[in-house]
Amino acid sequence: MSGRPAVGTPPPIAPRFDALIAQADAEAPLKLGILGGTFDPVHLGHLHIAEQAYAQYGLTGVLFIPTGRPAWKLDRPISSAEDRIAMLSAALSDNPHFDLCRLEIDRPGVTYTIDTLRTLKAYWADAVELYFIVGADAAHELSEWRDASAIATLVTILAARRPGVLSEQSDGGLPFDLRPIDTVPLDISSSELRTLAAAGRSLRYVVPEPVRSYIREHGLYGEVAHEVVGEAADGAVREAIR
Ligand code: NAP
Repeated sequence: MSGRPAVGTPPPIAPRFDALIAQADAEAPLKLGILGGTFDPVHLGHLHIAEQAYAQYGLTGVLFIPTGRPAWKLDRPISSAEDRIAMLSAALSDNPHFDLCRLEIDRPGVTYTIDTLRTLKAYWADAVELYFIVGADAAHELSEWRDASAIATLVTILAARRPGVLSEQSDGGLPFDLRPIDTVPLDISSSELRTLAAAGRSLRYVVPEPVRSYIREHGLYGEVAHEVVGEAADGAVREAIR
């Protein structure tokens, strides 16, 4: 058992890592990546930066934390928590060093990252070193987040690079420990994917296949469900190419 102070029995936070974390302590802390996001929908850009952060920084794993009611998106509709969770579960299922955390989804009220980090710190204390993974644009906005200076004391920030936003990462003067993730830039955004889906266009090759199926079967983003366009000569059903 770890030598850290008892802080109560946490609910399952990271089902794949909780047992490992329970064995860790401040002398041999686990390095855990966190990728927070709205994930509406999750796409290959998200998975790629998480995978590169995992490999480049020797992380034990990456915990994906979908937002509940994000403070910065209160003015626009987002897909239900359960749809976003279902898409994430499908996207992460084949990667043993990725895991899904419901903390923000299950916490009532508006979502702020600082609340999540304080909760994780309360449960895990010094048994875990937290590495918060962000894209290049998010890295530039960190100083505007609620209690940004407190966030800076709790995590190391791992920031993806993008062309034109390379080495000079602004931190708004706050003392973030900010380190780059070397990635292949994938210019994919969830909002563009929603627009494509609404227009009935293909999401193949930009989201994992199970996510594409989920969007189609549940008619998310205004997509019509599973369109059948004809019968092949052998009688097999041919789907629309999207
Ligand atoms: P999102 O749109 O789903 O994106 C999730 C993350 O993936 C972001 O860091 C985003 O960075 C990055 N990303 C998206 N597409 C990418 C691509 N093609 N290549 C590389 N990286 C890519 O989620 P979000 O709504 O921005 O939220 C991100 C996190 O920030 C959440 O944990 C949220 O809680 C937190 N946040 C907190 C506050 C606050 O506490 N006040 C305010 C804002 C955000 P880019 O945006 O750079 O693409």
